Amino acid sequence: PPRAEILSQGDELVTGQIADTNAAWLSERLTELGFLVTRHTTVGDDLDALTGVLREIGARAELCVGTGGLGPTVDDLTAEAAACAFARPLREDPEALRQIRSWFAGRAEPMPEVNRKQALLPDGARRLDNLRGTAPGFALNHAGCRFFFLPGVPHEMEFMFEHAVKTDIQSSFRTRPGQRVTLRVLGIGESTLQQRLDAIAMPPGIKLGFRTVPPENHVKLLFPAPFPTSERDTLVEKIRCALGPSVFSIDTPEQAGGTLIECVDRLMRQANASLATLETTSRGHLAQLCGAHPWWTYGLVIPDTRPVPVRLGLLPRDGLSDDLPDAAALAERLRLQQGTSHALACLESPPDTRELVIAIAAGSGIVTARRRLDGNPRYRQALSAALALDFLRR
Ligand code: ATP
Ligand code: MG
Repeated sequence: PPRAEILSQGDELVTGQIADTNAAWLSERLTELGFLVTRHTTVGDDLDALTGVLREIGARAELCVGTGGLGPTVDDLTAEAAACAFARPLREDPEALRQIRSWFAGRAEPMPEVNRKQALLPDGARRLDNLRGTAPGFALNHAGCRFFFLPGVPHEMEFMFEHAVKTDIQSSFRTRPGQRVTLRVLGIGESTLQQRLDAIAMPPGIKLGFRTVPPENHVKLLFPAPFPTSERDTLVEKIRCALGPSVFSIDTPEQAGGTLIECVDRLMRQANASLATLETTSRGHLAQLCGAHPWWTYGLVIPDTRPVPVRLGLLPRDGLSDDLPDAAALAERLRLQQGTSHALACLESPPDTRELVIAIAAGSGIVTARRRLDGNPRYRQALSAALALDFLRR
């Protein structure tokens, strides 16, 4: 496969103020697209360093994707460095200038004179339109290496990669893109995942990877091209069975299973349901996850104490003894009080036992579950919210 390198630029990257998520994202995409990513380089805002690195990469790789340094400020040096490295003068691209002006016009602001700099591209470079921001990117070929320079802002960079870079590199390199399948799992750790997958025979050529995206674990499969879809689906199904109901979503090239909240969102919309939530242990994480969705109509975040729900009329004054009926009573009263189709109560009960109690009340009845919590307090908050949503999904 063609060798690709990634170049990240910015003082804030080399000094550790921000983490280089662009390089990780690009590596994963390029690998999927059939490239061999051989190196990541990070340089600060230094013209000589940048110029030198561009020459080195040009001599080693067939593809280089660089991010950052396209902005209007003095520390944005990419175009200048490319011009130096490849001995091409900078020229003002009239269409780039027009686009930058119209970006400001769209916000009813005059274009600051400094932004004119963003229209300067090395001679012979191809402009890559930035539909999400001001700085255009650019592509150029030099001595057998194809360079793409993209903005540093992650969502602009990702959008430009998908819309302006991907088809270009696929047609010029004729790589064979592999197929990525991701199974998202909640509630089983990496070692258990590995053990359960050990029992499954993997056809050769498939790359298996694990990634923890707290509190989830992702199992990633990269199928080489060409790989028969039916065979792929059979294997994915085998893995799904081995991992059981902890798998909440599967992303394939044809269909995105999505995040946990996306799965819940689909189900809630399909059922035309509405939800009220009450949480203690998750400290608002549940409300934060549900917050953007119209089916979520009410949320309470309360401390782990009995007086609050009693005062809110959600528990009887004399109290109930066992924690499961407590959660069930809370969920049911919340549902009736708020007039929603569903209500969810998520508590650690009794407090500090690391035992999560989840109750879901619906017109058809109340279901409850207990889950173990582990990890540090912040992790437990996120985990509680995810476990509650996962129980709702089931
Ligand atoms: P701008 O027009 O905003 O100046 P730019 O293309 O010049 O865009 P930078 O100035 O290098 O890009 O970065 C802009 C912001 O994008 C940074 O402050 C940082 O938040 C984010 N960013 C830049 N590079 C990366 C990276 N490699 N990974 C993650 N985030 C990044
Ligand atoms: Mg910048």
